[in-house]
Amino acid sequence: KNILIILGFSSVMAVIALIAVGLTQNKRLPENVKYGVVLDAGSSHTNLYIYKWPAEKENDTGVVQQLEECKVKGPGISKYAQKTNEIGTYLAECMELCSNVIPASKLQETPVYLGATAGMRLLKRSWLNFISPDSYSQETFGALDLGGASTQITFVPLNATIESPENSLQFRLYGKDYTVYTHSFLCYGKDQALWQKLAKDIQVSSSRTLRDPCFHPGYEKLVNVSELYNTPCTKRFQKTLPFDQFQIQGTGDYQKCHQSILELFNKSYCPYSQCAFDGVFLPPLQGSFGAFSAFYFVMDFFNMTVNDNVSSQKEMIEIIRKFCSKPWKETRYPAVKEKYLSEYCFSGTYILSLLLQGYNFTGDSWDQIQFMGKIQGSNAGWTLGYMLNLTNMIPAEQPFSAPLPNS
Ligand code: AMP
Repeated sequence: KNILIILGFSSVMAVIALIAVGLTQNKRLPENVKYGVVLDAGSSHTNLYIYKWPAEKENDTGVVQQLEECKVKGPGISKYAQKTNEIGTYLAECMELCSNVIPASKLQETPVYLGATAGMRLLKRSWLNFISPDSYSQETFGALDLGGASTQITFVPLNATIESPENSLQFRLYGKDYTVYTHSFLCYGKDQALWQKLAKDIQVSSSRTLRDPCFHPGYEKLVNVSELYNTPCTKRFQKTLPFDQFQIQGTGDYQKCHQSILELFNKSYCPYSQCAFDGVFLPPLQGSFGAFSAFYFVMDFFNMTVNDNVSSQKEMIEIIRKFCSKPWKETRYPAVKEKYLSEYCFSGTYILSLLLQGYNFTGDSWDQIQFMGKIQGSNAGWTLGYMLNLTNMIPAEQPFSAPLPNS
């Protein structure tokens, strides 16, 4: 009931609109600046981003800059499905930040967008910002996004027909037509994938103790069966169990964990020339990819992002294999939240499995993936592209004058 409940979009927008109208301000900024606010309502969290750009340069997409990021305290917004009257309070602190940052004279005209994803299943999470920094080159960047409930892959395939119309988007940007491939795999975000894996494994073992290779040796955790089945994602593995709780006991074995995760991807049928998994069409991968959100959080923990040196797929397997086999009592990172820490073995293995066996990346094409947290000071994520698109800031035709090289 909780994370996959759909909340009335209009009621959320109404609350946000009321808050936005009520905002007050005290700072003045130059008149020719415009602002936009995007709320990323993910399955486990909500983040608010404030963007600004010079009004006279609206057609130069590169000049949009993230001014502030505000993490809304508490769970994902879908937890408020049964208590929508509390959403105002939930968002108040971050909305108030808008009033401190955006001048009063601009508040009325500042658009506030709420992008609710996977968990809410209202909007697809693939607005993307796929034109490379040099807007006039032919090169595009693909986007890989990993949330708690779903994961998305989006890129411009090379001369390939998109065999499934539902995966095809058309864009005309800067005088050039793009055919973009995109798919959102619901239930394959890292939290729901873990629930799926547990449901699959307990279905087979039917024992109160589940020896799990995706957790460290010595790690133990109780799982409520009611919670396990409280998501549509575990439906296919549901079984009447003779207990209400079972205990995970970690065994820390990367290979076995990897094998278990692979069972979540159905590769046995494909109604197209080629597929990712579960019968979903996937054209041949093309070009470079930016991988963000949980792809980045996890790879950042393993020091394998674009800012670090190690990056080959073989090295990554080795690092995660070692990490998984480490006894839980020796796995100490005081600055890292225990829930995240306990799941990095699963998450790292899941990311490798998803990218290599799910999306068909290879040892070579792996090097085309950049795990990134920020791009020129702005968080890498879908919210920026979403706002650029909704504010019609990306022109269909090429402007007369080119944007400044580093804009
Ligand atoms: P969503 O809320 O749907 O965007 O999902 C975000 C995902 O990232 C969830 O699975 C979170 O648990 C996860 N996450 C957020 N911060 C971290 C972190 N520092 N390390 C690992 N996972 C994280």
